[in-house]
Amino acid sequence: MGAIREYVCDNCGWEYIKENDIFMINKKHEVSVSPILFSTSEIIQYQAVTGSYDEFYCYNCGEIVKNFIINEIMEDMYGFDEEEIFKYIKDYDDSLKIIELGDEFQKCPQCADLIYLKPNSRNFFGLTENYDFENLAESIVFHDIENIKAEYKLLGKLLTYSCIKCNKEINKFIILHNLANFNSNEIKEILNDFPVDLTMYLDETNRLCPVCENKLSSLADSSKCPKCGQGKLKLENFLLID
Ligand SMILES: [Zn+2]
Ligand SMILES: [Zn+2]
Ligand SMILES: [Zn+2]
Repeated sequence: MGAIREYVCDNCGWEYIKENDIFMINKKHEVSVSPILFSTSEIIQYQAVTGSYDEFYCYNCGEIVKNFIINEIMEDMYGFDEEEIFKYIKDYDDSLKIIELGDEFQKCPQCADLIYLKPNSRNFFGLTENYDFENLAESIVFHDIENIKAEYKLLGKLLTYSCIKCNKEINKFIILHNLANFNSNEIKEILNDFPVDLTMYLDETNRLCPVCENKLSSLADSSKCPKCGQGKLKLENFLLID
């Protein structure tokens, strides 16, 4: 089910329509973005690459930043190695973009090969007041945050990959809520205590503009209007489509 949201500035009437949730690249290397429809879920299985799509806004550059997350790559397809896929997406249009690998893949921090998530290695964690890591259910981290946020300093996702070439296990921590407001050095120090070969982390609470490195915003209800800077965006229309 896809959703179309139409926002209009209550001061100048500037209009922003958000309607696309996924992207795909077909076997001819053509990129398209679209809402999730019943028909697209059919089409998706024949695509060489599929992933999720989102939009952010940089108030400093005054531009929409498009976020492409690669979730699936068809196996044994010629012309679809990681660099080529990134290039097809870059060439899709001239907007600013953040192109990322989804949970299923990671570049080995040591040899830069594309490595895969180990089976059943997608977990959620909370760092307690005593600096212990606790396993949490995904639903708690995403839907119960208001009830549990007083008990934890960090909430996030932990993904484990293995690189056959380097014979190493790689843990990737994705910080979803930085409740204690740690800076990046403090986070690194905490995660270094974790017993694996290599540890890395990504802070998703702070998405930065690829040009100016300012913090990005999601345009939503009551966001400051990008056009006039005075009014607020109001959700004018919300449409579910199939
Ligand atoms: Zn406005
Ligand atoms: Zn910017
Ligand atoms: Zn490696």
